[in-house]
Amino acid sequence: MKITDILKEREITVSLELFPPKPTAGLGNIQKVVRGCAELKPSFMSVTCGAGGGGSANTLEVVKEVQQVNGIPALAHLVAVALSREEISAMLNDLKAQGINNIMALRGDLPPNMTENTGYYKYASDLIAEIHKQGDFAVGGGCYPEGHQEAETLHKDLEHLKIKVDAGCQFLTTQMFFDNNVLYNFMFRMLKHGIDVPVVAGIMPVTNARQIDRIFKLSGAPVPPRFKAIVDRFSDNPKAMRQAGIAYATEQIIDLIANGINNIHIYTMNKPEIAKSIMDNLSEIFV
Ligand code: FAD
Repeated sequence: MKITDILKEREITVSLELFPPKPTAGLGNIQKVVRGCAELKPSFMSVTCGAGGGGSANTLEVVKEVQQVNGIPALAHLVAVALSREEISAMLNDLKAQGINNIMALRGDLPPNMTENTGYYKYASDLIAEIHKQGDFAVGGGCYPEGHQEAETLHKDLEHLKIKVDAGCQFLTTQMFFDNNVLYNFMFRMLKHGIDVPVVAGIMPVTNARQIDRIFKLSGAPVPPRFKAIVDRFSDNPKAMRQAGIAYATEQIIDLIANGINNIHIYTMNKPEIAKSIMDNLSEIFV
């Protein structure tokens, strides 16, 4: 089933994100992780992809596990950085051959030795236009409530986002954020820029103190004071930090749904038990 239809037909959706094992690592325990997530009956599951094509084979394997083995619609990430036209075409053919018709199209982060994207498709919008030429796919893209780290201003970033949507991006999943007001503000600005595709709100449960620095660097977000207080208080008590992180993510989701943001995406970090705790807390909301 296409994600565009799922987003249209269901009042509330909850999707889960997984990352594949490293290319050299075999499939490890990923089948168990996929099964654990699938048991939560998410609306769909997405599988990330390493930049530069690294790991795209494992992305395909995990996507097959999600959709063909566990029967959950799968969204395959596809990253353009450093890849040729032929390499992207081959990946699209592989997805088609496996009946995968949902793609999250991304430019990808530039590796440290690269100052600009050497791949054939410079921006996600270029990749998205090509994907539509090559097949009948539902195509999503990323968006950044705090602004993308390379963008000069949020205004410019929104102009680029409009180009992405005009190129055929049919839904947007947000980078993680920890203050819902940032998302509400962003969505207001999106509408003013004429961007009105469905937005899926990306929620990252921060349940261990080691994740924190990396996560805030990645999201480009300042640590909200309410969150900082939790980290300061509980970061040296792993069980308390886990519980507090689950509660924080749960509250964020309840507030989003109460304010009409009905599509929620949980960055699971391959921990189905954390996603389960959140979904158990919302059992009367996600029915
Ligand atoms: P783009 O939309 O191409 O934007 C990149 C930058 O270029 C932005 O600053 C934008 O303002 C600017 N820009 C865009 N279009 C134009 C234009 N026409 N002219 C001038 N400037 C322009 N990374 C991975 O490696 N693997 C993953 O699986 C992955 N999954 C992700 C999932 C989500 C939901 C999100 C939000 C991000 C994900 N990322 C992933 C990270 C992403 O690849 C990086 O954030 C990357 O730096 C930007 O990718 P993009 O597709 O948003 O790029």
